[in-house]
Amino acid sequence: MSNKSNLLFDKSEPGRIGFSLPDSDCPAIEVKSKIDSGLLRAEKLLLPELSEPELVRHFTNLSSKNHHIDKGFYPLGSCTMKYNPKINDMIAGFNNFKNIHPLQDISSIQGCLELIYNLEIILNKITGMHSTTLQPSAGSQGEFAGILVMSKYHQTKGNNKNNIIIPESAHGTNPSSVILGGFNPIKVGTDSNGRVDIDDLKSKVDENTAGMMLTQPNTLGLFENKIEEISKIIHSVDGLMYMDGANLNALLGVARPSDMGFDITHINLHKTFSTPHGGGGPGAGPIAVVEKLSDFLPNPRIVKEDDKFHFCNNSENSIGRLHSFYGNFLVLVRAYCYILSLGDSGLKKMSKIAILNANYLKKKLEKIYDIPYPNGTMHEFVISALKQKNRGAKALDIAKSLLDYGYHSPTIYFPINVPESVMIEPTESENKETLDDFAKSMIEIDNLIDTNLDKILDAPINTPVGRLDETKANRELDLNFYSKD
Ligand SMILES: *Cc1c(COP(=O)(O)O)cnc(C)c1O
Repeated sequence: MSNKSNLLFDKSEPGRIGFSLPDSDCPAIEVKSKIDSGLLRAEKLLLPELSEPELVRHFTNLSSKNHHIDKGFYPLGSCTMKYNPKINDMIAGFNNFKNIHPLQDISSIQGCLELIYNLEIILNKITGMHSTTLQPSAGSQGEFAGILVMSKYHQTKGNNKNNIIIPESAHGTNPSSVILGGFNPIKVGTDSNGRVDIDDLKSKVDENTAGMMLTQPNTLGLFENKIEEISKIIHSVDGLMYMDGANLNALLGVARPSDMGFDITHINLHKTFSTPHGGGGPGAGPIAVVEKLSDFLPNPRIVKEDDKFHFCNNSENSIGRLHSFYGNFLVLVRAYCYILSLGDSGLKKMSKIAILNANYLKKKLEKIYDIPYPNGTMHEFVISALKQKNRGAKALDIAKSLLDYGYHSPTIYFPINVPESVMIEPTESENKETLDDFAKSMIEIDNLIDTNLDKILDAPINTPVGRLDETKANRELDLNFYSKD
């Protein structure tokens, strides 16, 4: 494949232009007469010259080379790649939201502050917590903020504790946040039902336990049904319970973190509450905490006094500021629109359909693929492709094959406590036909292992870029790929 003609610069022809303007009736001024020559370019700026349709086609074609949620099914486990209603983007694009400046006078942005204030109250209600900060810009930063809150809590109480317990199936950001926050991560095992092994937990909890970080439902897509007992064990040594809330999509209107004994939780607004994500763009990972921790939240907090909103930096016990100004505001706008457009009953229905879709798909696949922990599936489930690997196609090959069927691949090799794991999260946005077609493709791939293994091992062949040599790609990273012949 030649990539040369894919660049705007290679398509450029001198004199081509995207628009024409009428001649100006203002007298021309020589730039050199107004701007110091030292500040002017010596050579003409190299810019591609193209007509408008060429430009539009270039970007339209590029936009469909990558898979995205507007193009097709995106069952990437743990990431909640749901469809993002366009109205959220439209409203986030209103000038009064988009064009504000963080240093503008507070009296002129009262509506925006009200939105922030109201969103905090909604998230308090959803989580059952006392206070929320919208500052963290990702789930991982929320985790870090939560660990700093834990640290401050123990410091204030004079507790000397160094350990935070994390299940072996945890997302990689959990141990990272714990270490960055100055604690030691202590691993707890999984029982035969895919939940926290309570005996192992009891053996690891002692006076040195600062808290536990637990994903609920966990990364196998299962509800931790002994959560009350777990919280009691951690609280008995004055430890705090942190909920990794990345899987909140399964819980809205069904269960609240506070009722399960959690003291802190983060919420990935970009996952649960519909902001386009996956390309490393802005997100938001608010944290919500119980009353005894509310003073530790980052400054500034938003407050309402005499029907006016302003920022307050007074909290002496605050862990400090985490983000310039007040976080990724337009992500907050999208989440607010999404939540208000669904309402209480809509959010509950959303979670229930997410759970139904995952269970439906699991049922269709379980005869062909092993599902090591099948009981109590919530919004996602994890396959082990060990059987398929023994016949010649590992999880990676299955994932690559799915690209040829027009799907984004599921998450693979996470969680790490399931060998050859394939983690599938359909979300509530998909209809029965899509789930049926996907299941059919998965079953067909399994058949191909015996009838045409090469087709799987060579996959993908229908994508703009074929199978990469992953080792070479890592060892010889080349960011100029497209500028070469
Ligand atoms: C996505 C995810 C995170 C991290 O969230 P980011 O917003 O990507 O930083 C943490 N834990 C789990 C279980 C996740 O799925």
